Amino acid sequence: MLTRTPASRERDDATPRHDWTRAGAAQLYGLPFNDLLFRAATVHRTHFDPNRVQRSQLLSIKTGGCAEDCGYCSQSAHHASGLKASKLMEVRSVIEAARKAKAGGATRYCMGAAWREPKQRDMDAVVAMVEGVKALGMETCMTLGMLTDTDIARLKTAGLDYYNHNIDTSERYYSEIITTRTFADRLDTLARVREAGMKVCSGGIIGMGETETDRVDMLVTLANLEEHPESVPINMLIEIPGTPLAGTARIDPIDFVRTIALARIMMPRSFVRLSAGRTEMTDELQALCFFAGANSIFVGETLLTTDNPGEDKDADLFRRLGLDGLDIEASDGANAADGASADGPGCHGHARSA
Ligand code: SF4
Repeated sequence: MLTRTPASRERDDATPRHDWTRAGAAQLYGLPFNDLLFRAATVHRTHFDPNRVQRSQLLSIKTGGCAEDCGYCSQSAHHASGLKASKLMEVRSVIEAARKAKAGGATRYCMGAAWREPKQRDMDAVVAMVEGVKALGMETCMTLGMLTDTDIARLKTAGLDYYNHNIDTSERYYSEIITTRTFADRLDTLARVREAGMKVCSGGIIGMGETETDRVDMLVTLANLEEHPESVPINMLIEIPGTPLAGTARIDPIDFVRTIALARIMMPRSFVRLSAGRTEMTDELQALCFFAGANSIFVGETLLTTDNPGEDKDADLFRRLGLDGLDIEASDGANAADGASADGPGCHGHARSA
C-alpha cells in the first residue's frame, strides 16, 4: 500500500483540484488548528510570496434602493436600514476617485452598484467608467448584479478585468438569506462571465447563522467550478440595524480563520480576500488570517456602505507584520513564487456587508 508522506501530501495540496467532496473538505476544516494552518501556509508559500498582500479599493457607484432582499444588506429596499438611496455617480467623479485610490497604493478599482441587474440606460455610463479607470493603468472590477450576454460583451470590450458575483453561502442555506433570486441564478451569471473570458471574483459571507457544513459546502461549490475564481472574498458579517440578520450570534474568530485556511487549500492559486468585517477584527485575528493564506484586502476608509480600517491603520499593521503591497504585474498570474500563470487576482464581495 502506498504510504503518503507529509511532503507528498503537501505537494498534492498545492495542485488545484476541482473534485472536492464535502467529506474531504470537512475533514480539512476539522483538523487540529495548528495542522490546518500549517497545511494552508504551506500551500500559500508554494504559489505566493506570503509577505505580499494585494490591495484593492471599492467604491459604491450607485447606493441603496436595491430590489433584491439579501438579508445582510443595508442597501436592500426591503429592509429599514435607514440608508438613503442615491443615483448612479457621474463618470468623471468615479474616475477622479479611482485616481486618488491609485495614488494611495490601490492597484485595482472595484465599482459596485446596488442593482438586481443594470438597466440598459445605465450601461453607457458603466462602460465609460471601466474605460476611464483602465486608462489610469488600474485593474477594473465591477459588481452590478445579474447581466445579460449583451452587458457581458460590452463590459468585456470596455476592458473590464474582473466581475464580482458572490455565491454568499451554501446552496442549502441560500434561501434563508435571499429569496429574490436563486443560487442557480448566481452560478449561471458566473458561468456566462467566465465564458466571455473575464476573470471571476466570487466568495461569501461567514457568520450569517450558517453551519460549519454550509461554510464547507460554499467552498466546495467554488472550488469545483471549472476554473477557480481568481479572487475569493471572504467577508465576516457586519450586523446592520434594520436588516434581518441584525442580532445574529457572532462567529467564533477561530472558525473564521479555519474558513480562510480551507479556502486557501482548496483554491491554492486564487487570491483569498479578507473583505468586510476587518473593523471588527483584532490585529491578531487579521494576522492569523494572513498566515492562513489571505493575501488581498480592501484599502480605504469605507467599503460600499460600511467602515474599513483606513490607510493609517493598515499601514501600521503591514509595518508590524512585515507585509508589503503587491503590484499589478506581480499579482497578474497568481504567483509571485513560481511564476505560473493560472488563476490570478481578484475582487470584492457583492456582499453588501462589504
Ligand atoms: S447585496 Fe447587492 S443585490 Fe443584495 S440587496 Fe445588497 S445591493 Fe442588492
